[in-house]
Formats: sequence, structure tokens, C-alpha cells
Amino acid sequence: MERHCHAPAPELSPLISAKMRTSLQMAHPVSRVLLPSIDAERCTGCGWCVAACPFHLLSLASIGWRKSAVLGDETACTGCRKCEIRCPFNVITMVKEKPPADTGGF
Ligand code: SF4
Ligand code: SF4
Repeated sequence: MERHCHAPAPELSPLISAKMRTSLQMAHPVSRVLLPSIDAERCTGCGWCVAACPFHLLSLASIGWRKSAVLGDETACTGCRKCEIRCPFNVITMVKEKPPADTGGF
């Protein structure tokens, strides 16, 4: 079947188990320094980044009448950049991890 460039990404496989995710990450260790930052204003909701993440950490969330990609579990992200590379619209930028929140000693 012919696929057009604006066609949505194929259906995702079912979510992988936490155990499988852990073993995948152990098999492909990456020293995470960067996290994907998604510009929701420019995201088309095409879903290609969602399909590209080996750990199924990205999903599409409704923001008003639109859909945008969002990163779920930041702690599970390896910073592999596959999502950034796959985005056809250069919507994803890898940024340094946010420092831990200052809880004011609490
Ligand atoms: S950087 Fe890699 S692990 Fe993190 S969300 Fe993107 S594809 Fe997934
Ligand atoms: S971040 Fe890019 S690849 Fe992901 S849904 Fe948005 S436009 Fe598509």
C-alpha cells in the first residue's frame, strides 16, 4: 500500500512490560544527559516519534482540539535521540535534564 509522507504513523505495538523495558535498556545502555523537549505548538501529532522510541515512552496527548507528543516517564528515557531524529518537522530538541526541584529543605 502506498504511504504518503503526511500519513500518520502505523499503529503502535502494545506497550512493553516494565521488565522488558529494563532489559532493553540494559542491552543498550546510554549515559543520559539529554531529554527530548517537544514544542507542542509546532507538533503535528503525526506520531512518528511515538513509534520511534524503543521504550515506548512517548504518546500522543490531546491539547485542546489538537494532539501533541508527550514524554511519559522521563526517568526511563535513555536520551538515545531516536525520537528527535525521526521527527519530520524538527519539533523535538534535546535539552539538558532539569536539575532536581529545590524543595527548600523539605
Ligand atoms: S530520547 Fe530515546 S528513549 Fe528518550 S524518548 Fe526519545 S526515543 Fe525514547
Ligand atoms: S514531535 Fe514530531 S514526530 Fe512527534 S508527533 Fe510531533 S511532529 Fe510528529
